[in-house]
Amino acid sequence: LYNTLQELRGNIRVFCRIRPLLHLESISSIEHVGNDGSVMVCDPVKPQSTRKIFQFNKVFGPTTTQDEVYKETQSLIRSVMDGYNVCIFAYGQTGSGKTHTMCGPSGGLAKDFGINYMALNDLFNISTSREDVKYDIRVQMVEIYNEQVRDLLNIRASLSNGPLNLPDAKICPVQSPSDVINLMQLGEKHRASGSTAMNHRSSRSHSILTVHVNGKDIAGNVSRSSLHLVDLAGSERVDRSEATGDRLKEAQHINKSLSCLGDVINALAQKNSHIPYRNSKLTQLLQSSLGRNAKMLMFAHISPEAESWAETLGTLKFAQRTSSV
Ligand code: ADP
Ligand code: MG
Repeated sequence: LYNTLQELRGNIRVFCRIRPLLHLESISSIEHVGNDGSVMVCDPVKPQSTRKIFQFNKVFGPTTTQDEVYKETQSLIRSVMDGYNVCIFAYGQTGSGKTHTMCGPSGGLAKDFGINYMALNDLFNISTSREDVKYDIRVQMVEIYNEQVRDLLNIRASLSNGPLNLPDAKICPVQSPSDVINLMQLGEKHRASGSTAMNHRSSRSHSILTVHVNGKDIAGNVSRSSLHLVDLAGSERVDRSEATGDRLKEAQHINKSLSCLGDVINALAQKNSHIPYRNSKLTQLLQSSLGRNAKMLMFAHISPEAESWAETLGTLKFAQRTSSV
């Protein structure tokens, strides 16, 4: 396992997750989900001419549970306790299930927990079970909206427009899973309070939960690592002819930051000497963990309903580009 994890450094793994059809949705664009990481899709309107197969490290079909998803993510997350930096991204159009994967149903924390909570719970369990290492776990939560960063754990919810650093955002020590739930709820509240249309805003901003883990073993050796859990802004294309003003501006910021993220991942995988971190706030903010020594995982989320076909294809192509290099 250790060797596999070593090899993952600097490379991104891509998991595709397909949400189930929701109420009133009936025709699916998903034709087949293979257990080898392949997925066959088509536009149900003209299946013959549009059928395509994509290959990822893993594909989770519509009936996959949160636990099953976590099980496949767990070893990566646990490696944070061994000093690795890990970044997990949820990518996909609005409504494709990003927040469901990261936070749970409709962002709630009540049941059917998402990766954020399960990861922290797991890290706590490891930290209490190990007697040879003493761990200190702290979290930060920020949001990036229109290239501006907001600290979701700071009461004054400051906006930073200047050269931004994650260290500037408030760091909260956490000692138990319930501490984490409280902070996540606080973060969500702040996120909502800054906006009249919460749902709109949360789908148009990137939210980042960072977990800092410091370990110290009995010999006095210290390790520092971090886990970034990122719920990205919706990747949907906005029609230029329809979007104007604020909507157009949001869309441009999102397009730019998502394509920058793709560029950084590709540059890392191709071992380029220049990694274009500075082209977006998102990559700038994650720079220390988006590196050759970091392990990255992207969940490419797709909505199976026929109307989302164009976005589904866009997401699959983005994810394929990200993983095939
Ligand atoms: P996003 O964050 O990408 O905009 P959401 O996570 O809010 O999407 O999901 C959109 C809707 O689909 C929500 O009502 C959510 O509860 C539902 N949903 C998403 N993924 C799943 C899933 N795997 N199983 C059941 N319902 C899901
Ligand atoms: Mg969401």
